[in-house]
This record gives sequence, C-alpha cells and structure tokens, in this order.
Amino acid sequence: MAQKRDYYEVLGVSKNASADEIKKAYRGLAKKYHPDMNPGDKEAEAKFKEVNEAYDVISDEEKRAKYDQFGHAAFDPAAGGGEGFGGFGGFGGDGFDFGDIFSSFFGGGGSSGTRRNAAIDGEDILVRITISFDEAVFGCKKEISYPRVEACEECGGSGAEKGTKPETCSTCKGTGRVTVQQQTMFGRMQTQRSCTACKGSGKIVKTPCKNCNGKGFVRINKKSELTIPAGIDSGQRIIRRGQGSAGRNGGAAGDLIIEVTVRPHKFFERDRNNVYCEIPISFATATLGGEIEVPGLGGKDETFQIPEGTQTGTSFTLKGKGIADVNTKRKGDLIFVVTVETPKNLTLEQKKLLAAFADSLGESNEIKSKSFFKKLFNK
Ligand SMILES: [Zn+2]
Ligand SMILES: [Zn+2]
Repeated sequence: MAQKRDYYEVLGVSKNASADEIKKAYRGLAKKYHPDMNPGDKEAEAKFKEVNEAYDVISDEEKRAKYDQFGHAAFDPAAGGGEGFGGFGGFGGDGFDFGDIFSSFFGGGGSSGTRRNAAIDGEDILVRITISFDEAVFGCKKEISYPRVEACEECGGSGAEKGTKPETCSTCKGTGRVTVQQQTMFGRMQTQRSCTACKGSGKIVKTPCKNCNGKGFVRINKKSELTIPAGIDSGQRIIRRGQGSAGRNGGAAGDLIIEVTVRPHKFFERDRNNVYCEIPISFATATLGGEIEVPGLGGKDETFQIPEGTQTGTSFTLKGKGIADVNTKRKGDLIFVVTVETPKNLTLEQKKLLAAFADSLGESNEIKSKSFFKKLFNK
C-alpha cells in the first residue's frame, strides 16, 4: 500500500485552517473528483475517497486533535486503533454511499446534517407568476398559493398528541448522542454516535400527534396576497425572507422567492425602463409637420409636434414617459418610430391634385432619385 498523504495536504489547507476554510476546500475537491463528474475515472474515484477520508477526520474536532497528535497511526486499524473510530471506516471500503455526500452538499444543514436534533434550516420556496404588461408597469396585488412546510398547529411542532409531551430520551438524556468508550493502545478513547433509542432526536414520543403523524410538521397549501412593485420586469425576483418552509430544531425558516414573468404588450415593447412603439402618421403630416397623439402608458395620450419633412423610420423620444425603475423610481423614456402611410383609394379629384403637386416639384425630385440610384449601383 502506498504511503498515505497528509490529510491537510490532501485538502490543500494549512495545519491551522478554520472549520470554514476546511469545508470550503472539501466542497471544491469533492465536486471536482465526484464520480458523477468523472464517470469511469479510477484516479478521480481514488482521489474522491482520499478527500472524503481526510475531511472526515479534519472536520471533526476530536478526530482532528488525535490526528494532529498521532498522525495516520491514530486511525490505522493495523496499529490497534481498531474500531474506536466507527464512523470513519465506511470511507475506505467499496460500499461508499455517494448519497451522503450529496445530502451534505445540498441538504442545507451543512456538516450538522447527520444529527437529527441539530438545527436544520427550512427550504426556500420558488413561486413563478405571470402578470400583464400594465400590472408590471403600475404594480399590482396578486393572490398566490404554494406548498409550505409549517410546524403542526395541533401539537405545536412537538409531534406528541395534544395533552401529552415528548419525553426526554433516557438513553442519551436528550442529547441525541451517546458516548462510546474503548480501550486502545493510545489509552481510553471516546467516540460519539447517534442514539439509536431516539434516532438522534433526543426525545421519545409515546403518543404521536394524529395531525402530523408525530412528525411535528405538516405540508400545507399556503395562500397569501403579494404586492408587486411598479416597474418590475420579466425575470426579476421578489424575495420574502423567512416566508419559506419552517426550520427544524431551531433552524431558520427558508425564503419565499417569487419569480415574475411579464406578458408582452400588443403595442408596446419594453427594454429595461424604456418603452418602444410604432406610430403611423399621414403623408400630409409627415410632409407638412403637425400635432399627433401618441398613446402613453396606462392609456394616457401624449401630444407631440411632428416636424416638417419627417421620413418614415424616424424615432422620437418622450423623456420620462417610460417605466419607473422598480428600485430607484427614476423614469425611463417612451420612444416611438413613425411610419409614413402612403394614401390609398384616392378619388379622381385627389389624384389630379397629387399629380399637379408632383408636376410642381418639377425635375428636381427626379434628379434626386436618379442620383440616388447612381450611387446605389455605383454608375
Ligand atoms: Zn402534530
Ligand atoms: Zn436518545
């Protein structure tokens, strides 16, 4: 068997690294070498085991102290340490449980996840809602409902039927852990294990609450009214701290996260806090200039003076007539592009007038269009 690498070296941390530094280093390495990320890679698998083995020792204060004192010999079965460190052996064998690693990554309980009576934070809840363009611009109230874990009202979260109380486990005296003492070559050693009598909860429920089946928690469909602020945009999130699922054993409640999708408007288009639209104007207005009505947000029309000789595709800006920023409340602009409508279905009289108009322009316009084509075809 190859010489075992130093556990600190394996994790890439210093001898006096903090618990946080160790955890961070471990997470990075465990992810890097995880079998799911490296299918069939024997070397990665070996590294993964090595990293887990190192972390199992260095993350545990008691084991770390022993390791600092005795090195690998403290945990080597051949050296007589034997089963004194029961929880550790599993990492060496082939029967490694990857599920445990994932639950410690994503369980939210961190390294305390294995202790049933340790504080576990409640889950965050994501709710997606779709609102109309106007609701986003002006804000609105929405009724939402979502499944949430709450402490059972019947038993107040204890899991014991009304009128009864969970009893303190006599085996572990409520700690959820039992200390096992063993004689080894290093002297008397102590290890802690989860109490089997209470499954680590520290309490024994004799008569379970019927409402929650003794769990102390129920999953309910929570309804609440949500105020959506004016100016919200698609993809933005509203976060209600502590309104997610309840935590356990004193853990913090999760957050309620509402993700907003805004339905497109049939006329307006939005880019951040600016609003764009297309306005058709008459041939006469485009040519002579004139006042037009521009539909504003919320149905409020704005008047605008179109200058003489306006071409199709010209854009104009109405400053501050866009959407108020959801945070700063500063207003964006309303930008419209004009399209000049060519008159259709003219009467004979109108056609004559237009022909006379064309005549009056004389050659100048013709020449202009000829030179335009010249440029275009490079003649
Ligand atoms: Zn209950
Ligand atoms: Zn117990």
